[in-house]
Amino acid sequence: MTNQPSTVDPYDVLDRSDREFWADAVADAIEARDPEEPIVIKGGVSPSGTPHIGHTNEILRGYFLAHALRDRGHEVRQVFTSDDRDRLRKIPRRLADLGGNIVGLGEVDAGALGRNLGKPYTDIPDPFGCCDSYGDHFTELLRRSVDRLGIDVEFVSNTRLYEGGEFEEVTRHVLEHAGDAGRVHQQVRVDVLRECRSDGVGRVTGDSPAHHGDIPGTDGLQRSFVLFDGCGCGSVVERGDQ
Ligand SMILES: [Zn+2]
Repeated sequence: MTNQPSTVDPYDVLDRSDREFWADAVADAIEARDPEEPIVIKGGVSPSGTPHIGHTNEILRGYFLAHALRDRGHEVRQVFTSDDRDRLRKIPRRLADLGGNIVGLGEVDAGALGRNLGKPYTDIPDPFGCCDSYGDHFTELLRRSVDRLGIDVEFVSNTRLYEGGEFEEVTRHVLEHAGDAGRVHQQVRVDVLRECRSDGVGRVTGDSPAHHGDIPGTDGLQRSFVLFDGCGCGSVVERGDQ
């Protein structure tokens, strides 16, 4: 894709389009940016616990968009990142074997997880013993789901990218501009929170709040929020107006 920042508000695309299918509206917005080819559509998840419909959704949304762009003659790469350098923050209650069967922790080597809280998923042994790591096991489950759906997705491991030095240049750049990066991150976070609330799609996906604070609502009132990690939409729980 082009390196130029988009002037299109991605959350505003659907409101300003008369397209019947959302992927066509988003494809319009991408074409308006005059992107370089191949156009890269990226999704990604933290590989932990049991795969659920949200993980599949992360892949299917990219697939529909890639399809809409390919129909228009564009070359598209659909990339799916396994964020397997993320740390294990809590022990999942259940896991799934490579056949997709749900199992309790008593049926596997749960100690592999308990002894490695806080470590990256790819540094934790596979509790089933069948893959190179806990992260690789989950990623393999997702890969098999995608194969069943017949979707052509390029899986990318963040651990491999880190180990290969792929992130060094951008990491150095961010550290040299840490102040700017912090301000941009804060602004994006607030924008996402505002959008979640206005759409009424705030959801709780974790047990413990990771962030909380106050942001102005569209009605001008201050609202408190609690942001839970683990949700692509920025999960918001409102605790009431102030
Ligand atoms: Zn495995």
